[in-house]
Order: sequence, then structure tokens, then C-alpha cells
Amino acid sequence: MPIYEYACKACGHQFEFLLLPSVKATAVCPECQGQDLERLLSGFAVNSAEMSQARVQKARTRLAKSRNYVDKQVAEREHIEEHGKEDITEHLPRETTKGDTKLGK
Ligand SMILES: [Zn+2]
Repeated sequence: MPIYEYACKACGHQFEFLLLPSVKATAVCPECQGQDLERLLSGFAVNSAEMSQARVQKARTRLAKSRNYVDKQVAEREHIEEHGKEDITEHLPRETTKGDTKLGK
């Protein structure tokens, strides 16, 4: 929700006004009820920009973390696959050796 900062031209009072998109409300000076207001470049605009930048950085780190996580998972899976292959190759020569000795006798 955007909060705008206004300055009343009549009395010089500065106040924040929350602008709801659903309600077409006009900002009115809470001091003198004047509607001759000047919208200021409030700190909110700067803060929101900084906030969105921080959000992007957070999302990037989250993405990087998830990538690392996937890499880890892939590495583990590859390790298991390699291990499984090793087990098979270890298993096969033994059987053939047994067969050879039987044939040799
Ligand atoms: Zn005023």
C-alpha cells in the first residue's frame, strides 16, 4: 500500500496519507481540512526501492542456495550411481573367476 507524504499549502502541515487503490479518497489536511496539498517525495519511495533491491538480493541468495542444494543432490546421486557400478563390476569378475575355475578343473 502506498503511503504518500503531503504538505498542506494552507498551513504548512506535513502528514502521511495512505492511498488505498480501492477507495478513491482525497487527502485532506488533518489540521485545517484543506485540500490544497502538495505531494512530497517522501522517504517511502526511497525505502521501497531499497526494500525491493533487498528483496531481489534475498531471492538471488535463495536461488543460489537452492542451486547448491540441487548440485549436492545430483552429486550424491552420481556418487551412488558410481558406487552401484563399482559393486556390479566387483561382482562380475568373481562370478566369472568361479566359472573359470570350474571350467579349468
Ligand atoms: Zn492544513
